[in-house]
Amino acid sequence: MSLEKGNLSINSENIMPIIKKWLYSDTDIFIRELVSNASDAVTKLKKLAQMGDAPGVGADETYRVDIVVDKAGRTIEIIDNGIGMTADEVRTYINRIAFSGASEFLEKYKETEAASGEIIGHFGLGFYSAFMVSERVEIDTLSYREGEKAAHWSCDGGVEYSMDEGERSARGTTVTLHINEDSQEFLEEHKLRQMLRKYCGFMPVDIYLEAVKPPSDTPDSDDTTPDASADTDADPDEIVINDTPEAGKPAAKPVNDKSPLWLKPANECTDEEYKEFYHKVFSDFADPLFWIHLNMDYPFRLKGILYFPRLKNELEYIEGQVKLYNNQVFVADNIKEVIPEFLLLLKGTLDCPDIPLNVSRSFLQNDSNVSKMSGYITRKVADKLLSIFKKDRAAYDGYWGDISPFIKYGCIKDRDFYDKMKGALLLKTLSGEYNTIDEFKERNKDKTGDNVYYVSNEAQQAAYIKMFREEGMDAAILSTNLDNPFVSYVESYDSSVRFKRIDSELSGALKTEGEDTAALGEQLQTLFRKHLGNEELKVSAENIKAAGVSAVMLQSEQGRRMEEMSKMFGSAGALPPGMFAQETTLVINTNSPLVKSLVELADDETRSADVEIIAKQIYDLAQMSHKPLDADAMASFFERSNRILHMALK
Ligand code: ADP
Repeated sequence: MSLEKGNLSINSENIMPIIKKWLYSDTDIFIRELVSNASDAVTKLKKLAQMGDAPGVGADETYRVDIVVDKAGRTIEIIDNGIGMTADEVRTYINRIAFSGASEFLEKYKETEAASGEIIGHFGLGFYSAFMVSERVEIDTLSYREGEKAAHWSCDGGVEYSMDEGERSARGTTVTLHINEDSQEFLEEHKLRQMLRKYCGFMPVDIYLEAVKPPSDTPDSDDTTPDASADTDADPDEIVINDTPEAGKPAAKPVNDKSPLWLKPANECTDEEYKEFYHKVFSDFADPLFWIHLNMDYPFRLKGILYFPRLKNELEYIEGQVKLYNNQVFVADNIKEVIPEFLLLLKGTLDCPDIPLNVSRSFLQNDSNVSKMSGYITRKVADKLLSIFKKDRAAYDGYWGDISPFIKYGCIKDRDFYDKMKGALLLKTLSGEYNTIDEFKERNKDKTGDNVYYVSNEAQQAAYIKMFREEGMDAAILSTNLDNPFVSYVESYDSSVRFKRIDSELSGALKTEGEDTAALGEQLQTLFRKHLGNEELKVSAENIKAAGVSAVMLQSEQGRRMEEMSKMFGSAGALPPGMFAQETTLVINTNSPLVKSLVELADDETRSADVEIIAKQIYDLAQMSHKPLDADAMASFFERSNRILHMALK
């Protein structure tokens, strides 16, 4: 074959700048495209050999893909021993088909310039992504077919290519990238290794990475200075025994795992295997709590493993990672369109062969398979949780602390998920139990009816908690940011339950039967208003059983929620403080000996200063167990406490 020159039939002088421009942010996907072509070429040959259609290829053939990076020579080679191409096949697949994908891309680009950010493009751009990082690309290939000649193809990213007979003597294909000025970073071994792990970590053929050492480093060179860069190039999170092979020898260990655990039938996987896979893929040393092995064939294919991670600390938001694959080729992390948002809090790998590799997000949103998939995964997750709940309640209780943020968020985001899960939503209580809402109500109904009293801050609300405990009452602990919207959500769908913070009202069980306190309440209101210098203050009197409590501050549940909401939405600082403050009531305990003494002294003009100091102290103490004192109030509280201590000594 003599040198053949041709024009790639395309309307543009040079489409590469355009491809580059739109694909720029994902430049590193060239490695995925080229290595998956190489892997496909191997898979095809394997199939042919199995069918007996590949003469000369034995059953014991070792298939592999080699990536050879030569920093000094500025090249990356992707070498496979797959099916190879004849010269005619290069003409068809590379010159015509692949380029027509590129021209289609160009047409689309013209039409939709505005929306083109979304075009990653199902345009069969695969091979041509090489030009994002190369000034010249060469193909050396020899078909598996007997009697074929090797072909050599070269193109500098313009519209011209040249083709002649090649020198490759072994079956397969070598794609050589002459890396351009802007893409030199890809010549770093560690960078390339990282990219291979990310995109090709589970491809079905062994992939080896080899870095050609600079000439000064070869044994027959005079220069024997050790090469410091060999160390810095190594991936820090990898323990490798033999990772810097001598030039020319293949690396000992493939960068990928060609049979990821998700492909193995669930009944053949051991717990150890699941854990090991989790540690490796997510670099998390902690064991996951449990996992779900997904496997579906119809109406779409989906295999994968979803892990429930352990929370590192109680209040931390889980940061998940769900990796999406297409036939073992990495597509992307955390694609909201495929996986319901709340499931992104989990960690996992999903392999969906029915989702095209290079699609725009808007395409995914409109794809009916994609929305079915999302629904299917949600159902599977709920089923798994419910089965643990039913079969092993103790384990479920034990997991609750770790899985509750995920479940609560899921309920708020997805009504169907809530409907499935509503019987298995737990409340951790002050007494250390884990109750469903119904169990909690049943256990406490004599004292609290349909109300679920809850604590949002155990330390601060200790005074109320003490009163509850003394009466043998229990309350739920709902202390995270998510709990506020969560309780409102549950109430909106379940009218049989009312959540009330422990300082929102005095349940009847906390009070003694006794004299009517209305008149005394008015008297105390006058007294406290006068001494606190606050004419707006609302005060009432109640016969509270716990005599050690002099007063409590109450704020209605609805009032407090409104205040919290407006704080959250009101632009901070733009509004005067207290603008959304909702009414609180100081409730004085008529059973408290301190209060009784105070009432007796109230009319004694000579003790007015003492009454004032005690009234203020009672108020502050009540206030403190409701919410933190502000700086000024705190300063007066300290100063006054010292004075009271001094008085006690006199
Ligand atoms: P796609 O992979 O989506 O078909 P590409 O542009 O990546 O598009 O590749 C075009 C075609 O070129 C492939 O379908 C395949 O037939 C051929 N090809 C590419 N790389 C190789 C290779 N390493 N070995 C054999 N054939 C290849």
